[in-house]
Amino acid sequence: MGILVQDVHYNYMWFALFPAVAFVLFPAGIALGASIIFGAAIVFIEFVLHGRAFWLKFYYVQEILIFYCFMVFGGYLYSKILEEHELILQRLATKDMLTGAYNRWKFLEDFESEFERARRYNYPISLIMFDIDHFKKVNDTYGHDAGDRVLKKIAKIVKDSIRKVDTLVRWGGEEFIIFLPNTKKEGAAVLAEKIRQKIEKANFDEVGKVTVSFGVAQIEKNDTIDDLLKKVDKVLYKAKREGRNRVEVAP
Ligand code: GH3
Ligand code: MG
Ligand code: MG
Repeated sequence: MGILVQDVHYNYMWFALFPAVAFVLFPAGIALGASIIFGAAIVFIEFVLHGRAFWLKFYYVQEILIFYCFMVFGGYLYSKILEEHELILQRLATKDMLTGAYNRWKFLEDFESEFERARRYNYPISLIMFDIDHFKKVNDTYGHDAGDRVLKKIAKIVKDSIRKVDTLVRWGGEEFIIFLPNTKKEGAAVLAEKIRQKIEKANFDEVGKVTVSFGVAQIEKNDTIDDLLKKVDKVLYKAKREGRNRVEVAP
């Protein structure tokens, strides 16, 4: 009898492989939900439908439950830590994976000295900030993958339009910055207008036409990076307010 109980006890341990596999294959939230549902389903089938485990000593049932919960919450924790690490790695990486543009955090770190030089010696730097118009509608209508292809193509058009010394930065989801050293805002505005027209003329496969709004600003003496970013953000939203698909330059 003792040997029989031992066997059943180990049979039940196999159920704990479910969370282990789930946390390897799926995001933490989905794997957690699936493991809880799976655990509840097994309890329901074995205890309620088949009434099989009733003759198991309570001690073993408790042990199996604790083991299963340990696997589920251990898996969840492990999965969360991995997700956190992925985020840190993405922040440390120089380039954005989708568009090949510079990443925001790396840009702020690497270009600090450029801004410092501009601030001290009146060396001109301009920023173009742009944001895709009604991009949410593109995602909602054609799907996220189609949206990603639009982002990629726009980044390619921009990269083909700027000089080697200029830098394209993916600032947010569908918001970018072009860093233009040794460039006054008048020159930056001409470039922004050229890119705006190129995007307007381009064809984005199933999505068709896409437009983009632009803000342009130049660093002034004693401006910090934050001052310049605020200025360019403000004019970009002016371009949005005034009808989109246009370039606005900071005064
Ligand atoms: P607006 O003209 O005012 O900019 O409208 P909008 O819909 O573009 O603006 P909003 O900022 O509300 O929406 C941005 C959307 O961009 C939300 C999100 O679904 C989408 N998005 C952000 N990052 C990505 C991405 O990496 N890929 C895809 N496909 N979509 C993204
Ligand atoms: Mg946006
Ligand atoms: Mg947008």
